Amino acid sequence: MGRMMPDLFLASAVSPALRDQLSARFQLHEGTPPPETRAIVGGGMSRVDAALMAQLPALEIIAIHGVGHDGIDLDAARARGIRVTTTPDVLTDDVADLAIALMLAVQRRVAVNDRVVRDGGWQVPLGRRASGRTIGIFGLGKIGMAIARRAAPFAGEIVYAARSAKQVPWRFVAGIGALAAASDVLILAAPGGADTDRAVDAAVLDALGPEGVLINIARGSLVDEEALVAALRDGRIGGAGLDVFAHEPQVPEGLRALDQVVLAPHQGSATREGRAEMAALVLANLDAQFSGRPLPTPLV
Ligand code: NAP
Repeated sequence: MGRMMPDLFLASAVSPALRDQLSARFQLHEGTPPPETRAIVGGGMSRVDAALMAQLPALEIIAIHGVGHDGIDLDAARARGIRVTTTPDVLTDDVADLAIALMLAVQRRVAVNDRVVRDGGWQVPLGRRASGRTIGIFGLGKIGMAIARRAAPFAGEIVYAARSAKQVPWRFVAGIGALAAASDVLILAAPGGADTDRAVDAAVLDALGPEGVLINIARGSLVDEEALVAALRDGRIGGAGLDVFAHEPQVPEGLRALDQVVLAPHQGSATREGRAEMAALVLANLDAQFSGRPLPTPLV
């Protein structure tokens, strides 16, 4: 008989390295959490609602591997005294880098040109100039700020929307419709959840316009995906760079068929460095919780 290790439920897949480190400290469970579960480790989109919490009387901490918390009922956690942690800061720069990479890839046709050359071709249509554009950022938090700082040197203007205006040198625009109308490139960097659900609908896409480009590194739930496919197909917007989708890992055929679209499989934080730092923060939060020390990055 080994010593009793606390029970931990893995609500999403984790890297082999993190799994090894977790299994040295916890009894790991997958599939269905047993009632003895004291900790949950999940991704930003794992679902831990009030009903699940009610089935887990011993649950004391939900450690999220990411910063999104769309699937976690924070009020229910608060009411039960269940702590919730995320991994902020260590992924901010990586996600912002991918947003810029997708934007440049769409405008300069990087992905489709790569496919042409691989197929032995050489003649390709012209791209569009990336510099001098008005770049609109929806959600000017940690990631949105990092995107703005990267984009500022080559943007014509940076405009943004958030719940409140910030002390920044960029122009605040109230509402996503007005933001889209002001922008050549609209970059989504706000959280998922009910408040932003399908915020980018057909009207917002029409406001972005036939030359406009949509970049989404936030959550697929922010976009009405059917409206996006239709707008791209009909040329009512110019292109899109997408790291996130409404029903991951499903990507609509209508998006996969279009050259003016660049796709990534939710890779925003997917660097070796970032993932190692995220795993270390997950462990640091769990270790703190189970040794009675203050949590490094608590959300609740
Ligand atoms: P953050 O620091 O909390 O910033 C969120 C920003 O969104 C804030 O500026 C906030 O405005 C704004 N916002 C919130 N609700 C809004 C609403 N209803 N309308 C307009 N703006 C709203 O979060 P972050 O670290 O930058 O991360 C942002 C999101 O990126 C995460 O929630 C996550 O879903 C996503 N993400 C994706 C990946 C990926 O792999 N692709 C990786 C990490 C994160 P106020 O400041 O005015 O409240």
